[in-house]
Amino acid sequence: ALHCGIVGLPNVGKSTLFNALTQAKIAAENYPFCTIDPNVGVVPVPDPRMDKLAEIVKPERIVPTTIEFVDIAGLVAGASKGEGLGNQFLANIRETDAIAHVVRCFQDDNVVHVAGKIDPLSDIEVINTELALADMASVERALLRVSKASKSGNKDDLAKKQVLERIFQQLDAGLPARGLNLDDEEKALVKDLCLLTLKPTMYIANVQDDGFTDNPLLDRVQAFADNEGATVVAICAAIEAEIAQLEEDEKKEFLDDLGLEEPGLNRVVRAGYSLLNLATYFTAGVKEVRAWTIPIGATAPQSAGVIHTDFEKGFIRAEVISYQDFIAYKGEQGAKDAGKWRLEGKDYVVKDGDVVHFRFNV
Ligand code: GDP
Repeated sequence: ALHCGIVGLPNVGKSTLFNALTQAKIAAENYPFCTIDPNVGVVPVPDPRMDKLAEIVKPERIVPTTIEFVDIAGLVAGASKGEGLGNQFLANIRETDAIAHVVRCFQDDNVVHVAGKIDPLSDIEVINTELALADMASVERALLRVSKASKSGNKDDLAKKQVLERIFQQLDAGLPARGLNLDDEEKALVKDLCLLTLKPTMYIANVQDDGFTDNPLLDRVQAFADNEGATVVAICAAIEAEIAQLEEDEKKEFLDDLGLEEPGLNRVVRAGYSLLNLATYFTAGVKEVRAWTIPIGATAPQSAGVIHTDFEKGFIRAEVISYQDFIAYKGEQGAKDAGKWRLEGKDYVVKDGDVVHFRFNV
């Protein structure tokens, strides 16, 4: 499963956010692994398209897809030199697929700020510097290895050396490796390094309940992220934690009072999902309407394999209706009558929103 790691300085609201995310209470028995590690939360991905499909199909249940968030506490200045439990935390981040970087934009005299003042940009810089220093150390070691190897003139080694040198310069200039926009081939060459600053990253600005507008701190985070091409999600973690504890009907009322359509957490989850470069397809039967996660670009057999490996091995054809057509023609029969039902083969690349039924041999 893909992981989004939650990082940030101490006391910025990481745990508050993580707890709110995991309050969503995915049935633990379906995800045995999530009970093993208290720092990993399996979170359902809210997708309004599922409700629309369910209105038509009227299934017994709706099963959303999930992503995992990991609470990575304890990243402090000096981590790359082993300060605190630095190395362990960096190792935990290395295992994630994307990073949600929480920054404090709320004022609260009761909550100590580690640097003594609220300054989200300097907080970002502290964390990003640690990540960059850790990457520089990895790149330097890799450069030593590959420099020796490339003397023999091996083409891959030379290519790797070139990419590593570019990354080193980038890091040395204080910029994250992801800013180089490496192509897939270049990324593959340095994949084994699990570089921290190469991971897709978003910033989560933890603001006061009235801090969503006219907030210079938030504006500065936004400007910084824009410059990096990163997303910012503004939330109030304290309120999210409250909302997460409410029953469904109370929740609706509470959100109505705040003038919100949905909890801010939904935006966090969706932004995390999109960082991971994933697509969703649906199966829609009377038993269940269900969302499945695939990497963007997955073929029909690969997508079938997400349901069951036998589906991939025995793949024959995929019956496909796009989400728009499924809704517009009110289900499978309507889509068929309108000529919007397709039979696709093994080379078909499944699109986000496709409603699919697989035919397979067992
Ligand atoms: P972490 O160290 O980053 O995991 O931070 P915590 O989630 O433990 O939060 C640190 C403190 O800040 C706790 O006392 C929280 O209750 C408080 N806190 C977190 N989010 C907010 C917020 O949005 N507003 C306010 N006022 N306090 C918050």
